[in-house]
Amino acid sequence: MDEDLPDLVREFYRNNVSAVDLAARMPGHVDIPRLREGRVGGVFWSVYAGCPEHEGYDAGEEFLNGTWRVRDTLEQIDVAKALIRQYPHTFQPAFTSQDIRKAIGSGKIASVMGVEGAHQLGNSLSVLRQYYDLGVRYVTLAHMCHNVFADSCGFLEWLEPLHGGLSEFGYTLVSEMNRIGMLVDLSHTADTTAKQALKHTVAPVIWSHSSARAIWNVPRNVPDDVLELVGIGQNKTDGVVMVNFAPEFVAAEGNATLGGVADHIEHIAKIAGKMHVGLGSDFDGIGGVPRGLEDVSKYPQLFAELYKRGWSRQELAGLSGENLLRVMEGAENVAKQLQDDGVPPAWDIYDKRTDVGQRRIPGKGRWFAGDL
Ligand SMILES: [Zn+2]
Repeated sequence: MDEDLPDLVREFYRNNVSAVDLAARMPGHVDIPRLREGRVGGVFWSVYAGCPEHEGYDAGEEFLNGTWRVRDTLEQIDVAKALIRQYPHTFQPAFTSQDIRKAIGSGKIASVMGVEGAHQLGNSLSVLRQYYDLGVRYVTLAHMCHNVFADSCGFLEWLEPLHGGLSEFGYTLVSEMNRIGMLVDLSHTADTTAKQALKHTVAPVIWSHSSARAIWNVPRNVPDDVLELVGIGQNKTDGVVMVNFAPEFVAAEGNATLGGVADHIEHIAKIAGKMHVGLGSDFDGIGGVPRGLEDVSKYPQLFAELYKRGWSRQELAGLSGENLLRVMEGAENVAKQLQDDGVPPAWDIYDKRTDVGQRRIPGKGRWFAGDL
């Protein structure tokens, strides 16, 4: 599952981790007693900093103005790590699929960090690589805003496209993510972005928190013509769509229920296959909750519902984590292969930047890497 606890700590506790008691009842949907009650084995900790325009910044038409998004992301990473460290008997930091299996095997909750929006990269592939080194294992290509790399789908209303999907730099970003083993997350992306990324990536992908548009028609949900591209085999890309519980993505106002969430899961399973669906939830990142799925303690009820609908134990194990672990392992293998093949890091700089590469080496003209 994907949760926004670090953002809650930012908003409610001014990032003061020492004031947070996860062993007691927390104001949101997540705390240790309820995680244990919900039998949660692994969590994506979203280290999220909002889109500039929603936080009082103007990044400018070409995204060249400073917005503090990289600082705020580093703070969220700091908060997530501190919270994980504060409860060593409960949480275990995880950086690989094997780490996750080990954590679960020892009764701990595997904790993986994810950056929820490429606007948090500060237009820079170096930042991407350094986030990886800090432990981040997925980046969402866009959040509710467009960025230099990719178009967003908007939220409940469509956004006017900017690039028509991925920009050229966005294609480079996807390739670099493949090379380093950073999972490509397609939640929040425009359909064009998702289709182009699916075609371009050589590693499996995720949707960290997205539901099915055929069940409830909002931009944030994944349409069937994208789900049809997900799978194993020719013209398909392996991936896992982890269902979002936000009521506004599940059903009409006031109608979101546990059964409705199960409908989304079953629809994604019908189109992409049961091996390609997971649980995203977005707990602590969503305002309301569906009836019957009020917090992380309610997962067993969702599994009971799907069991009643005919899902086998093995299929439910896939839904609860095995599908994601397969995808993660696939991305790890691709990264290892690319690095073994000697594919070099991408040193591309956002072409609109004027602060780098402006000085000339005497007698050599402008310093381009190719001139050396
Ligand atoms: Zn989100």
